[in-house]
Amino acid sequence: MTIITAIIDGEIVETGTAPIAIINPADDELVVELPEADDDTVDRAVAAARRSFDEGVWRNKPVEERQAVLRRCGDAIEAAADQLADIECSNTGIPLSQIRSRQVLRAADNFRFFADYIGQSVGQLYEQNPDYLTLVRREPVGVAALISPWNSPLALGSMKIASSIAFGNSCVLKPSEQAPLGISLLASLLRNAGLPDGVVNLVNGRGASTGDRLIRHPEVNVVTFTGGTETGRIIMRTAGEHLKPATVELGGKSANIIFDDADFDQALDGALLGIFTNNGQQCLAGSRILVQRSIAKRFVEAFVARAEAIRVGDPRDPATELGPLVSRRHMQHVLSFVPGEGSSDRILTGGGRAAGLEKGCYVAPTLVETTNDSRIAQEEIFGPFGAFIVFDTDEEAYQIANRSRFGLVSYVWSQNIARIMEAQERIAAGIVWCNTPMMRELRAPFGGYKESGVGADGGSACEAFYTRQKTVSIPRRPLTLRQLGKI
Ligand code: NAD
Repeated sequence: MTIITAIIDGEIVETGTAPIAIINPADDELVVELPEADDDTVDRAVAAARRSFDEGVWRNKPVEERQAVLRRCGDAIEAAADQLADIECSNTGIPLSQIRSRQVLRAADNFRFFADYIGQSVGQLYEQNPDYLTLVRREPVGVAALISPWNSPLALGSMKIASSIAFGNSCVLKPSEQAPLGISLLASLLRNAGLPDGVVNLVNGRGASTGDRLIRHPEVNVVTFTGGTETGRIIMRTAGEHLKPATVELGGKSANIIFDDADFDQALDGALLGIFTNNGQQCLAGSRILVQRSIAKRFVEAFVARAEAIRVGDPRDPATELGPLVSRRHMQHVLSFVPGEGSSDRILTGGGRAAGLEKGCYVAPTLVETTNDSRIAQEEIFGPFGAFIVFDTDEEAYQIANRSRFGLVSYVWSQNIARIMEAQERIAAGIVWCNTPMMRELRAPFGGYKESGVGADGGSACEAFYTRQKTVSIPRRPLTLRQLGKI
């Protein structure tokens, strides 16, 4: 396996300091020891990005050329789908089938989407003033620092690369130190797609060292971060200190409201996907499942039966639906939420390691009936761990849904259009999915309310973030100006 500590100016750097042990969470075996990019390496990566930006080798290309290169990036990713899925599976434990069918294709689509988008993006023209035309142009911001998490490295890291470079910027990505392998390979593949050297650079390392060095760097113009809420506060503080714009996409504890007139089977299928996809490690997990009392018993029983039938095991087995959590430490974090003796929360199923799997970080699908004020309902667990909360009235459902410090996504299930219309207004979250599990529309903004984030991803949201506006006024005809100092 090629060691990728950094990619600078199109060259792979294999050396660094303080190696990070990458462990396969499916069998606890060491995959590789990855040296961390030190300060000098980070500085060189930023310098490469700066030079490529300042020389205009990418941003000054005709848009058709940039579109063609972005499409070739998508093709290069798709052509290496098996290799990417394989390495990503060893690093994250996400089922190979889910990586192959969802994340790799999403990564390729991210580049194709922004290729299409930039072909249609326009500036503004103000022509109301009889003497002037004023145009508002969008220019790339410069060098973007991209900090990504471990839970969906290919899909999220590629989104950051594609959206930043599409508008003419250069970037330096720092993936999560827990899951750097797949996205590093992806970044290395982009070198064959015709991107000029220095446009996409990468540094691997820990957040507090490599990541912090990167976002503070004076030649970095903007910072974008996806990760935990507490890290997001640090990132915003640092970016603010240096007056750099930042978007932070953070955690969630999303409500999934099942009304009594929902299509029962669809809601059941959707809610199971909402909590157990990606091994339960999703910012957009529907982890608070609010069920109306009249259907609660039937719904919860059916849900538990399905959860108990979920095939947990080797993420390389095509039959596997739930693989291991990303690390032993994370598994301990998830299990720390299992209610102990004397708790008023009721464990419906699971609550421990998956049976029969001694090696690896496997947790059994876990479901608990609780109330909204419990730690289980208020904190992001980030695992195959769902919390059921029973409600009586619609009003109560909205109160519960909104009583959370998070507000990333939400789900609502009802066959009554008036109820759906009411719900989408009342729920305080950046995204409301009605009668569907996760539906990602790349044209639309994806960003959270409250402590789930500041800013958003998506077509026009990314354009707004990765470009700055320049107002240019031009007289329509020669002006008669006041002539200072002329006698
Ligand atoms: P994390 O906050 O621990 O780390 C995220 C990234 O930040 C990593 O690359 C890490 O190295 C880096 N980092 C940490 N400290 C830093 C610092 N001081 N300076 C610069 N970089 C630093 O998050 P994680 O555990 O990797 O990811 C899981 C979290 O991400 C969950 O809370 C999840 O909800 C969230 N998430 C949010 C979204 C979204 O779109 N809102 C999507 C996916 C994941």
